[in-house]
Amino acid sequence: MEERDFFDERPESRTHLMTCPHCGQQNEYELSWLVRRKKAQIGRGADERDRARFAKAQSYMVRRDDLVGCKNIRCRKRFDVAGIQSVAFL
Ligand SMILES: [Zn+2]
Repeated sequence: MEERDFFDERPESRTHLMTCPHCGQQNEYELSWLVRRKKAQIGRGADERDRARFAKAQSYMVRRDDLVGCKNIRCRKRFDVAGIQSVAFL
């Protein structure tokens, strides 16, 4: 079984507070994440090894956005998403 067989995957967006490094203004930004929620039950055809892996599996999400555009209309520069992890457990 593949790792993806253990999870239901769907995109979600979450709001994060970030400060632009160019102008210093703080704003809320929506970032898109890929959320992988662990299934309630392992599928058919799982062997003992799959079951052990499934038992250890944990729901998590992966950040898809690395860059945002500053919301300050006098700045509008793009900056890296910093200080927010790229993988987070739920
Ligand atoms: Zn800015």
